[in-house]
This record gives sequence, structure tokens and C-alpha cells, in this order.
Amino acid sequence: MPPRRPRPTAPPPIPTPPQTELFPEAVLVEPLDARRVGGERTRVRGVWRVRYESERAPHRVWHDRHGWYCEEHGPRCRAVTAVRPED
Ligand SMILES: [Zn+2]
Repeated sequence: MPPRRPRPTAPPPIPTPPQTELFPEAVLVEPLDARRVGGERTRVRGVWRVRYESERAPHRVWHDRHGWYCEEHGPRCRAVTAVRPED
């Protein structure tokens, strides 16, 4: 009698790699008028409204002397990544 072979086990699940596309989720980036948002004498270089499909509230991303940041979530918000050019 041939030796019993162990039953094949299911291969471990392959972790899905993080999506490398720039916008894995539908995102709408809308530039705003910095002067209207920050005032006539603002030094803000840019303001954007960023909407994600899955989120109800839009993000507001600023670019000014403090750098790039989301009004609500700070510089590490993914909305910042959506607006900021890659360097
Ligand atoms: Zn945000």
C-alpha cells in the first residue's frame, strides 16, 4: 500500500498589495479661490476641496507657509496626497 499522503492544505491567502494607482477611489479635486476662502490679503497659495466617493464630508486642503495640510485631518490626510504634486 502506498503511504498516505497528507491532504493538501489550502495555500495561505495572498495579501493584496496596496493599490498603486494614484486614485484608488473616485475622488473629486476642486480648486477653490484662495482669496475668497482666506481673505483678500491671504498668503495662501492654494485651497482645494477634495471629495471622496465614500465620504460625505469633503476635505479642505491648504497650501500655505505651513505647507500642505487638510483643515480637519492635518498634513497626513490622504486628501493632501490627492492634491499635492509628487516630488
Ligand atoms: Zn482630511
